[in-house]
Amino acid sequence: MDYNSLITAIPAKWKANIIQYGDKASNENAEDIFLGKSCYNVDCLNSKTIYNILVNRIVTVPTAIDRWIDEFPFLNDHDFTNFFLLPNFAATNTKMQVFQFKIIHRIVACTSNLKKWGITDHNTCSQCGTIETIEHLFFYCNEVHTLWKRIENWLKYTLDIDISLSVVDIILGVPFPQNDNLLLNLNHIILMTKWYIYKTRLEKQNLFFLHCLKELTTSISMEYYIAGLHLETGQPNKWQILYDVL
Ligand SMILES: [Zn+2]
Repeated sequence: MDYNSLITAIPAKWKANIIQYGDKASNENAEDIFLGKSCYNVDCLNSKTIYNILVNRIVTVPTAIDRWIDEFPFLNDHDFTNFFLLPNFAATNTKMQVFQFKIIHRIVACTSNLKKWGITDHNTCSQCGTIETIEHLFFYCNEVHTLWKRIENWLKYTLDIDISLSVVDIILGVPFPQNDNLLLNLNHIILMTKWYIYKTRLEKQNLFFLHCLKELTTSISMEYYIAGLHLETGQPNKWQILYDVL
């Protein structure tokens, strides 16, 4: 519709000029036109610019971002650019990437959401009876918190990563510069641990650190193998750090 509106909006004398002269159509007397609320000089417009203007008109910020920023006011839109990119680096498994996108968009199936969607009649945690928000499911619940403390301890003694993971680190990830394989591996651990928590809670089972490590071993073996298929001779495997200790 927008494209048709655009074509229709081209003045007849421009069309005649283009038909008569083709690529050599004169730019003399080029005029300004309005696209949306902004005015653009015709000389500066090409199809790519017009396309971007039209796309930007329909792009809206996901409401989940506003919710996260309300809760964690130190975050901003730029942080979310990184958070949205992060799952694609932290795992090649599409299921894991989708899982993290659901968390970012606040549509992962914690009992609060299940009640909101009319699937269950309660919104409480099966372990402690507290209201189970996404934050509770992945961070605040006592049993989960204990698991993260075991993970932090393991990180310190096996990978020399001394970190106290915050609720934001766990829910949204730890942004990292390109080629920082240590933080890449850390994000894989965070993502896979969340997946382990989610799956185990769905099965109404208790969490065990050693079971979590077993999940990590399976996933990292897969990532290591897949990454190895695309490596050139002498190039390091980005998952080597975790592969060596699991
Ligand atoms: Zn709980």
